[in-house]
Amino acid sequence: MREVALLVGLETTASRRPHSLTQSQESLEELAALAVSAGAEVAESQIQSRPRPDAATLVGSGKVEELKSKIHFHDATVVIFDRELTPTQQRNLERELEIKILDRTQLILDIFARRARTREGQLQVELAQLNYLLPRLTGHGAAMSRLGGGIGTRGPGETKLETDRRRIHQRIHAIEASLERVRGGRATQRQQRQAVPLATVALVGYTNAGKSTLFNRLTGAQVLTASKMFATLDPTVRHMTLPSRRRVLLSDTVGFIRNLPTTLVKAFRATLEEVTEAELLLHVVDASSPAATEHTTHVLETLSEIGAAHTPQILVLNKADLIPGGMDAAALARRILSDPEHQPAGAVAVSALSGEGLDKLSSKIDETLPVDPVSACMFRIPAAEGAPLHLLHEYGRVISTQYNGDFCEVEAETPESLRRRLAKYLVSVS
Ligand code: GDP
Ligand code: MG
Repeated sequence: MREVALLVGLETTASRRPHSLTQSQESLEELAALAVSAGAEVAESQIQSRPRPDAATLVGSGKVEELKSKIHFHDATVVIFDRELTPTQQRNLERELEIKILDRTQLILDIFARRARTREGQLQVELAQLNYLLPRLTGHGAAMSRLGGGIGTRGPGETKLETDRRRIHQRIHAIEASLERVRGGRATQRQQRQAVPLATVALVGYTNAGKSTLFNRLTGAQVLTASKMFATLDPTVRHMTLPSRRRVLLSDTVGFIRNLPTTLVKAFRATLEEVTEAELLLHVVDASSPAATEHTTHVLETLSEIGAAHTPQILVLNKADLIPGGMDAAALARRILSDPEHQPAGAVAVSALSGEGLDKLSSKIDETLPVDPVSACMFRIPAAEGAPLHLLHEYGRVISTQYNGDFCEVEAETPESLRRRLAKYLVSVS
């Protein structure tokens, strides 16, 4: 079912600061991008100015009347508010407008639910959904149940919404327990990955900055992008080969968004685990966006909060194709970076779309990562041992393989870290 959405923002004039209208507009534009990402068509968006939010309907009764005629005019199927609605507001609006009502949090949760691929991502999203629903259940379960398909109906499912709080609490406890187990599993996976001597490079940045496009370009991976945001709620990891021929792991992450509802911060942070462990961060920014400065500031702050402030960072000024003279990285960086103390290791202008600047970016990654020089080595490995052979094929460049009795003699160009790991099989280094 194609959803037709009306979007409603709110600007509270009592606290008007010079930029608050612009901010409401930018926030509403982001909401529109999110709605499109969730599969809706945006018929109209508007901002309502009021001294303060209306307790009963957020936007006030006059606006509600206006919305009624707009719903009729556009044949809308959903109204999405760019604020968190209280349970009362949600109920009143549903009753008055007789249409599905969503708020920003519910929309984001819906996108998360669609895109969660790993078990941990799914559990985190369901947990956030249940926690969001819980206070909205009391005595008004019926008001929360949604009919039909479309946005806001995925996730815990409507039958659960009608069950009592006790059962939801039980489900929350069960999810928390599963999360513990899944986390244990992930730590193991990471250990296995770390046992392989490869540096990890993580992409970070605002949503829509072009991270997934860049990720695909750099790794040649087939990952869902288009303008679908949150295509990667769960970190996606792929190999990337640098100009020096060494390989690193590149990890795509979920995008940051403005005013991330507090209820979602935990689910979001869980996806940033890869970031704290990376050797290098590629901080991708849509340099063509008017909000580029604000976005980079927010990303840098969050990186600080999760303890990644001192990880080497390359500022990737993306969408340079949209800016006249856009390949001048230094000029772009000066314009976008507000805090001179937060100077990244380097800034590179690229277009992930056209591929321009990507060679330079790859070289920059090579330069910035700690060196792991490659040398030609000869190994002598018992033929029965598969693992060292596998590692050489995977992370080195095998030149020749010769079986000699119970042994396999392998000549390979090998990064130093791998050579160290396979030291007991090493015969010679040239
Ligand atoms: P993410 O949310 O950071 O992963 O961003 P995506 O990779 O999904 O890209 C968001 C949108 O920006 C998509 O419509 C891309 O096609 C577009 N995009 C990405 N990189 C570029 C670029 O270099 N130039 C232009 N013009 N558009 C780009
Ligand atoms: Mg993405």
